[in-house]
Amino acid sequence: MAKSDYYEILGVSKSADEREIKKAYKRLAMKFHPDRNPGDKEAEAKFKEVKEAYEILTDAQKRAAYDQYGHAAFEQGGMGGGGFGGGGFGGGGADFSDIFGDVFGDIFGGGRRQRAARGADLRYNMELTLEEAVRGVTKEIRIPTLQECEVCHGSGAKSGTQPQTCPTCHGAGQVQMRQGFFTVQQACPTCHGRGSVIKDPCNACHGHGRVEKSKTLSVKIPAGVDTGDRIRLSGEGEAGEQGAPAGDLYVQVSVKKHPIFEREDNNLYCEVPINFAMAALGGEIEVPTLDGRVKLKVPAETQTGKLFRMRGKGVKSVRGGAVGDLLCRVVVETPVNLNEKQKKLLRDLEESFGGPTGENNSPRSKSFFDGVKKFFDDLTR
Ligand SMILES: [Zn+2]
Ligand SMILES: [Zn+2]
Repeated sequence: MAKSDYYEILGVSKSADEREIKKAYKRLAMKFHPDRNPGDKEAEAKFKEVKEAYEILTDAQKRAAYDQYGHAAFEQGGMGGGGFGGGGFGGGGADFSDIFGDVFGDIFGGGRRQRAARGADLRYNMELTLEEAVRGVTKEIRIPTLQECEVCHGSGAKSGTQPQTCPTCHGAGQVQMRQGFFTVQQACPTCHGRGSVIKDPCNACHGHGRVEKSKTLSVKIPAGVDTGDRIRLSGEGEAGEQGAPAGDLYVQVSVKKHPIFEREDNNLYCEVPINFAMAALGGEIEVPTLDGRVKLKVPAETQTGKLFRMRGKGVKSVRGGAVGDLLCRVVVETPVNLNEKQKKLLRDLEESFGGPTGENNSPRSKSFFDGVKKFFDDLTR
């Protein structure tokens, strides 16, 4: 059988260094790997060929022999005393796995040991008053989190003892498993990839190497936040395992109900009661804002429910943009606890209106009662 040139198979030059050869092999081996080409005999043959070329050209002695004698160097005890059997893919599980570990290690992210896990993200629910949310505030919070155990300094082993090399994997963190006709590496079931086991666990952390502790953090809440906003504190979450990065802490904001103001987007709403004399005659009242009281002019003949807008007295959003408005709704309050004199004044006033439907003083009542009268007239017709 005429064999192709090993350099040609890998598509590299005769002067290629080991790194170039490995790179070419990696690319071709991925392409023709039996896992990616199930049942494809041609790909399997190609894979064998590529592997053979790689094995010869990365062995300095064999490569020198090949460069001098060509394929003849490996025929019938020519070189290396049968160390390389030619192909050998079918039976050579162990042989293959060596390359697997060597070349494929970084492709499959295996390395020798499993990467330690990043710490978990934490969430903290923070309740703010409306004033705090609008103006911003700095709050101290205590959060339970995992920190490195001070007794064993994170090793998990009782003081005076050390974690032992795992007897199953002998410290490799991985074991080889036969799957079909080739071998794969898996995380060691005994030590879960760590490579070591703890015989005498530390009393303080029960062998975890981390303990639950509270830590105090100072959190700066920016002005203008609202319910549903979230502040991320990078790296303030749980500690990672064995020096891996910590998670993040998310502060979830919710704003408590305010006795006077209600916030809707960047506007604030409030309700201000006025008596009906003020509503009728007009005047000036004081209304609350978050920055103190301001005067509001109530025009004469103000009806209940009228909304007054005070520009720029609302909230400036944490996301920027214009400051919202304060919207004041005036509500006319019916007088209570009237004394005899007040009652007489009101009776006189009512009489002067000409009854409940007096059209000069109560145009809305007039049109309403006219409407009601028409409604009943239509019914009886
Ligand atoms: Zn192990
Ligand atoms: Zn400990």
